[in-house]
Amino acid sequence: MNFVLHGVAVSAGITIGNAHLVSSARLEAAHYEIAEAAVPGEIFRFDAAIARARQELSAIESQMAGDAPAEFGAFINLHRMILADSSLSHAPRELIRERHMNAEWALVQQMEKLVAQFEEIEDPYLRERRQDIEQVVERVLKALQAGLRPGGGLPGGEPLPSAEGNLIVIAHDLSPADMILFKRHKFGGFVTDAGGVTSHTAIVARSLNIPALVGLHHARQMIRENDVVIVDGIQGVLVVDPDPVVLGEYRLRQSQHGLERQKLKRLKSTPSATLDGTPVELFANIELPQDLGDVQESGAQGVGLFRTEFLFMNRKALPSEDEQFEAYREVAKAMDGRPVVIRTLDLGADKAIEGGNSVEMPNPALGLRAIRYCLAEPQLFLAQLRAILRASKFGHVKILLPMLAHAHEIDQSLNMLKQAKQQLDDKRIDYDKAIAVGGMIEVPAAALALPMFMRKLDFLSIGTNDLIQYTLAIDRTDDAVAHLYDPLHPAVLHLIAHTIQAANRGGTPIAVCGEMAGDPGLTRLLLGFGLRNFSMHAQQLLAIKERVLRTNLAEAQPLAQRVLRQSDPAKTRELLAKLNS
Ligand code: PEP
Ligand code: MG
Repeated sequence: MNFVLHGVAVSAGITIGNAHLVSSARLEAAHYEIAEAAVPGEIFRFDAAIARARQELSAIESQMAGDAPAEFGAFINLHRMILADSSLSHAPRELIRERHMNAEWALVQQMEKLVAQFEEIEDPYLRERRQDIEQVVERVLKALQAGLRPGGGLPGGEPLPSAEGNLIVIAHDLSPADMILFKRHKFGGFVTDAGGVTSHTAIVARSLNIPALVGLHHARQMIRENDVVIVDGIQGVLVVDPDPVVLGEYRLRQSQHGLERQKLKRLKSTPSATLDGTPVELFANIELPQDLGDVQESGAQGVGLFRTEFLFMNRKALPSEDEQFEAYREVAKAMDGRPVVIRTLDLGADKAIEGGNSVEMPNPALGLRAIRYCLAEPQLFLAQLRAILRASKFGHVKILLPMLAHAHEIDQSLNMLKQAKQQLDDKRIDYDKAIAVGGMIEVPAAALALPMFMRKLDFLSIGTNDLIQYTLAIDRTDDAVAHLYDPLHPAVLHLIAHTIQAANRGGTPIAVCGEMAGDPGLTRLLLGFGLRNFSMHAQQLLAIKERVLRTNLAEAQPLAQRVLRQSDPAKTRELLAKLNS
């Protein structure tokens, strides 16, 4: 049946492909019913994945160095035993046969049953073994994802779409941690029922440069596995089962969009400046060192925001100081003297970590988040600060503190930095003694009390995502209020313009690193407010550069001031259109 759904476009572009339904937050555990005729194929797929997992364990064992710790061999053996146990290798087959569950669903269902039994065991050692079950299941799920189906088809027996990138993930919701997994898997697009435009899920999707829509409400229920879908990430439209004319039209638009992006690549080494020659710095935001390839390709002048909390996701144990140091050093070295702004942990709210501060908070966005969490966990914070300081020897590293609102938070953070430096001095470990420390302006209180921040910090960066969330009192992850997210609200524009102007007057370097910096429709407005440093995902950088190159500041400035004086939203949009014309 042919139908269209409307959502919020969070990542531009058009993609056409086959729907792949995902049931839970875990990408690995796709969840759908299969047809009776598909049962033998699904059981084959399941058995093949079990066999693959078994082979992997044997391969690990045979590659194990002679001096590997004895526990390692024991752990491999344990995993082999779990895999061979009929409760895991046979019971899911029954679920596939009798309840027509797909293999992943059957396996996860069975795992949950086993894990629940383990949780009731008194002995802590045995209780802990639930983790081994989960790890074994994970291995089998990965093997399932590797496409072990006779003929390599999709669930339901249909052939796979010709290109790997043509699978469109349709989920009720995806966490930022799930989205990070997208960086490893090739998908053509993603669509979720939940989510807002600046949720971290959306932000990561944008960094992947794949078309994405959020806030569709009922897509997960209405779309069937393998339906042909068009994701229009420009208009925020999802077309399901399109007729040939619509499909043809979209193929055309898709190739035009591709050509435009191709053309932008020519700007990579063009110096970024307005028409009158005013230089404008363009930096890249990253989540993980693996984003560096895109950063280099974009010609970014540095990394303006490294969201380090993503190093802490999708894992059971926190990364050690050494592991963090290696990640920060990799980025610092790769940027080869260009600035790298490393933001200290911004955990909490939608960016939860396993077993971390996941205690239920009545209002996570207003709770023990970001710098508040770090100051409450001094050992964790100190380890991160030491790791950053150590990496500062390998490039031009700066430290950025998130979510500041109070003077004492700045003082305490600077004190912690002093302690971290002392600890390194005691061990004669070298670091950049003059490392710069900046603060995010993302709480309205900070924007309103700016002189206090300018006095204590070396630079500032406006986090418009949170600034909008807190100014307008809308949860950035909640699709029910996504329509109230408005970067052009006069209160938001006032706070941003005032912050930029006050910082410029006081000589404190100021950047914008929230999603507004990567929206070409807002580039001239921000330039008109006086912004000269933008940080965004590498994927957006060249489109922003193109805007900068075509901006006449003498025209943009007065128009931006008029936008600021405007209180009628329709007029604001009219003026903005004029500014962008
Ligand atoms: C912001 O709030 O604008 C920002 C850049 O930080 P994050 O999106 O990671 O909260
Ligand atoms: Mg923020």
